[in-house]
Amino acid sequence: MKSKIFCPVCQVSFVHKEEIAKNKIVTCLVCGAILEITETTPEISASRPVMEPENEIRERVDNFAKLRGYTFSAEKEELIQGLLEKHERFGDFYCPCRFDNIPENVCPCLETRKNHVKKEGKCL
Ligand SMILES: [Zn+2]
Repeated sequence: MKSKIFCPVCQVSFVHKEEIAKNKIVTCLVCGAILEITETTPEISASRPVMEPENEIRERVDNFAKLRGYTFSAEKEELIQGLLEKHERFGDFYCPCRFDNIPENVCPCLETRKNHVKKEGKCL
């Protein structure tokens, strides 16, 4: 069964091909975010489960890299620390390389989701 799930992190719907059920944990196929199915009727909705921030962002970037076939550079840990600082100060994982703390810059930021890595060889 195919279900469309709207991702509250990257603001895009993705098609999930496995059975869904309330409270099931799924991975957004666009950004790699961990999501929990909160409702299945009348529409499917999903939200970010409560997680330790460090676990949440590590899982997300690892999932995203896996989905796209990317590998990490030596700067990965620096990036994770920057993301955790942004999360602590501004409430979400905004890209530490970007000035504006807006939804488009939540990691993986919109430009990165739009294949910036493929074009430039890295995410910033
Ligand atoms: Zn997403």
